[in-house]
Formats: sequence, structure tokens, C-alpha cells
Amino acid sequence: MSTLNIAVLAGDGIGPEITEQAVAVLERLSEQGQFALNLEHAAVGGAGYRAKGHPLPEGTLALAKASQAILFGSVGDFSLDHLSRELRPEQAILGLRKALGLFANLRPAVVFPELGHASTLKPEIVSGMDILIVRELTGDIYFGQPRGIRRLENGDREGFDTMVYNETEIRRIGRVAFEAAAKRSRRLCSVDKANVLETTQLWRDVMTELAADYPNIELSHMYVDNAAMQLLKNPKQFDVMVTGNMFGDILSDEASMLTGSIGMLASASLDSNNKGLYEPIHGSAPDIAGQDKANPLATILSAAMMLRYSFGLEASAQAIEQAVSKVLAQGYATADIQRPGAQLVGTKAMGQAVVAALG
Ligand code: NAD
Repeated sequence: MSTLNIAVLAGDGIGPEITEQAVAVLERLSEQGQFALNLEHAAVGGAGYRAKGHPLPEGTLALAKASQAILFGSVGDFSLDHLSRELRPEQAILGLRKALGLFANLRPAVVFPELGHASTLKPEIVSGMDILIVRELTGDIYFGQPRGIRRLENGDREGFDTMVYNETEIRRIGRVAFEAAAKRSRRLCSVDKANVLETTQLWRDVMTELAADYPNIELSHMYVDNAAMQLLKNPKQFDVMVTGNMFGDILSDEASMLTGSIGMLASASLDSNNKGLYEPIHGSAPDIAGQDKANPLATILSAAMMLRYSFGLEASAQAIEQAVSKVLAQGYATADIQRPGAQLVGTKAMGQAVVAALG
């Protein structure tokens, strides 16, 4: 039986409460004999700053590097907002992404049948929606050089940034997306703005070339403005979407909000060897921290992604996802997904219900 070496970085606010439940779920599967677990915990974010004077202490970074995968809670602590930018809790995520070369961000946006009412769109438009957005995370206009604000000869100030992708970067994220599509319904939509931007014309060309290596995947292309519209009009037409850093930033938030429930949304950030950092998309929710109110399902579903993408344990990943579907169908709900007729439970009870549903 393989041993999974996982770093658990719980972080701040609700982080410790929600990761505790995801760990309980992993431990249950381990007890069932699906794998052995080696979990090591370390402080990160505000907790890292308080313990070691830095949001990403050396020991935490070393542990993250040595592990096969990272289960991350959330970081953010308003009482540390007076610190200089590099010492703020949120810097820990950027530091980990950079140090570990996590270039591929995978964000599922799933609407469970019981939660169709939570969306701002009509339930019939979103119910059953299941999209995976693959976003390039380390390039594009967010990192391109040169950039800055300069003074023109006429005295006006001018801001400028550089959108840039080379074909190696495009191919690398493209492969992640094609592989992800192969594990799902084999449809991949690449989003660009090739009618206006040279960078994304190259993006389209490289994606088209890559498609020859994946004859079983149906590749389509869509301009980003149309993709933003289609996500609202008919989101169920999409399976896997792949796009650059900036378009992905915007579209993944748009898609996640279609689900209406921030406490349900998982994410993965992967390197080129499928090592990954897995975290819920929400923050540290200081308003409900320590009150047993947070929804742990986003973190539990992040653990399922970890088993799928970093460890290739598809059956174990599905077992978790099915257990989550089951507790929702049984009518359990934390406050953020409360609905008429559902039984309101806290963080711990929700985690325990998922553990019980695993059998
Ligand atoms: P947030 O995501 O923490 O919270 C927004 C709202 O959603 C709050 O009302 C909160 O109670 C609710 N919420 C969030 N997660 C929930 C859950 N699991 N269950 C139930 N309700 C949940 O965003 P914010 O309040 O803008 O930011 C709080 C802190 O988190 C800030 O310091 C911010 O910088 C940080 N942050 C961190 C991450 C991260 O760790 N990846 C992401 C976003 C924000």
C-alpha cells in the first residue's frame, strides 16, 4: 500500500476547523485500507507570522517542498494588516506558488442538485452544472515585463503592462487541460482573444497543434467576451475550459459564483509533476472563525482533488465526492447552504456526516 506524504497547512481563521474535517475524511479512507497516511502539520499565514515571524516560515516551506501534496486551509488575519506587504498572511500562497512552480490552477464549479436554489441564476440553468476551469497561473500580463507607469513628454502619465506567453508555457498548461478533459467528458474549450491579441493567437495555434496528440478530446475555441456571456446563458454547455492567467482569474470567479455557495468550491494548483497545493477558494472568514459555523465541504472536496490529481487515486476521490453528494441529499446543511427543510449542522457535524457516509 502506498504512503501519501501530505503537508497540512491549516493557516488562519476557519482554516484549522475546516482542515481538521478534511483530515478526518482522509483518515477514514486510510482506515479502510485505501492508502497509508503520513501527515505533517506546519504554521502558515498569520499563524506562521505569529509563530516564526514570517507568513511562510522556512520550516513550512521546507516541509511543503518535501511533501507530495499540500492540504491548505486559508490565510488572512485582519489584525496583521498593518504589516508591510511581504509579511502579510496572504503572501504565503504567492510564495508557495512561486517556490513550488505551481503553474496550473484547477477550479471546479459544480452545482449539486440540492443547491441549485443558491445560485443567482434560475435553478434550471445551473442545476447539474459541472465545469472545470484550468487557468495558467504564473505568466501572462500579470507577470510580463516591461511594466510600469511612466511620464510622457507632454507631461501625461501612462500605465503599461506586457501580455506575453511563450509556446512552452502554453503547451504545458494545455497538456494539463487535455489530460483533465480525458478524465471527464472529453470536451475542452480553449478561451482566448485571438481576434485582437497576438499572444492569444499563439495560444490558439498551440492548443490546436496539441489537439493532434489527443484525438479522443473534442477541442473548441471561444473568445473570452463570448465565454463570459455563455457562462451566464448556458453554463452546462461547458466541461473543461482552459485559459490564460488574466482571463482565467475573471472567468473562474464568474463560474464559481454561478454556484452561489463559496463554502463548496475546491481548487488545485499543480506543478509539472502533479505535485499540488489543494485549498478551498474562500478565505479565512474571520467573521465566523472558531464558532463551528464554517462549511468544511470545499476543503473536503479539495482533498478529493488531491487524491485524483497528485496520487492518481480516482476511486478514493470519487468515494469522497459521492459521500459529499450523499450528505447533501440526506438534508444536512451548514448555515451558508441552509435551505428550507434542511437540517442545520456545524463544521464538525458536517465533517462527521461525510465520514459516516464513507461507510
Ligand atoms: P472570505 O472568503 O474569507 O469570506 C467571505 C464571506 O464568505 C464571509 O462572510 C465568510 O463568512 C463566508 N465564508 C467563507 N468561507 C466560508 C465557509 N467555508 N463556510 C461558510 N461561510 C464562508 O473573504 P474575505 O472576508 O474577503 O477575506 C477574509 C480574509 O481571507 C482576508 O484576510 C483575505 O485576504 C483572506 N483570503 C484568503 C484566501 C486564501 O487563503 N486563499 C482567499 C481569499 C481571501
